[in-house]
Amino acid sequence: YPLLEARGIGKAFLGIAALDGVDFTLGRGEIHALLGENGAGKSTLIKILTGVYSRDRGTLQLDGAEVTPASVADAQKLGIGTVYQEVNLLENLTVAENLYLGRQPTRFGMIDRREMRRRSKALLTRYGLDIDVDALLSSYSVAIRQIIAIARAVDLSGKVLVLDEPTASLDSHEVETLFTVLRRLREDGLGIVIITHFLNQVYAVADRVTVLRNGRLVGTRDLANLPRLELISMMLGRELQHMTR
Ligand code: ADP
Ligand code: MG
Ligand code: MG
Repeated sequence: YPLLEARGIGKAFLGIAALDGVDFTLGRGEIHALLGENGAGKSTLIKILTGVYSRDRGTLQLDGAEVTPASVADAQKLGIGTVYQEVNLLENLTVAENLYLGRQPTRFGMIDRREMRRRSKALLTRYGLDIDVDALLSSYSVAIRQIIAIARAVDLSGKVLVLDEPTASLDSHEVETLFTVLRRLREDGLGIVIITHFLNQVYAVADRVTVLRNGRLVGTRDLANLPRLELISMMLGRELQHMTR
């Protein structure tokens, strides 16, 4: 069975369908882009996967077992972690404190700062970050903060990482830094779901793509043999062949 498998997911807000019977399958070691025009239902789908919204209907299986994440914390416990655009870290705490907030290592009933520092350093080295973990988070760039948030989410969940428009406020160099991290996590067997509006980024980092339109599934394809124009046609629901002439 696949890492994550959603079948027939439905969700309505005040009687209006945001998702109408959507299937979505994520493999291990796969970066899967979710695409669609504004209002297609992308955010609603990932909010259902990450425990923000409940589903009205459909099934969700993680590692072959039926799951119903009841909250973001619950999804994390099950193995599905997420980082939001407004990265939920605390600016006035140190990097190490942010990484281990709420689960600090203790020794004789006291927070063990040395151990916390050691674990933080070890964790971030895996992400190619050699930074001062005792510095305040606010001293680092948006991109570094985002990678720290990803490191925390993966450390807490460990199977699936879900990112809704993670590149929105990054410059092209920072995007490449982020993608290097995602590729490393893919090598570790993580399944990654990413929403981005930039097709260049989709082709640069993703293996597969699922396209939604008006709350419905249009299709799922490998990106390796999907021409860009065909992908755009899938998103818009229109034939664009005439544009090539
Ligand atoms: P996308 O992320 O693809 O732009 P969304 O999942 O945000 O799409 O939205 C899909 C549809 O569901 C839209 O019509 C949107 O207005 C509606 N919707 C999403 N979240 C809510 C909400 N919390 N309350 C009411 N309607 C919502
Ligand atoms: Mg939207
Ligand atoms: Mg959205």
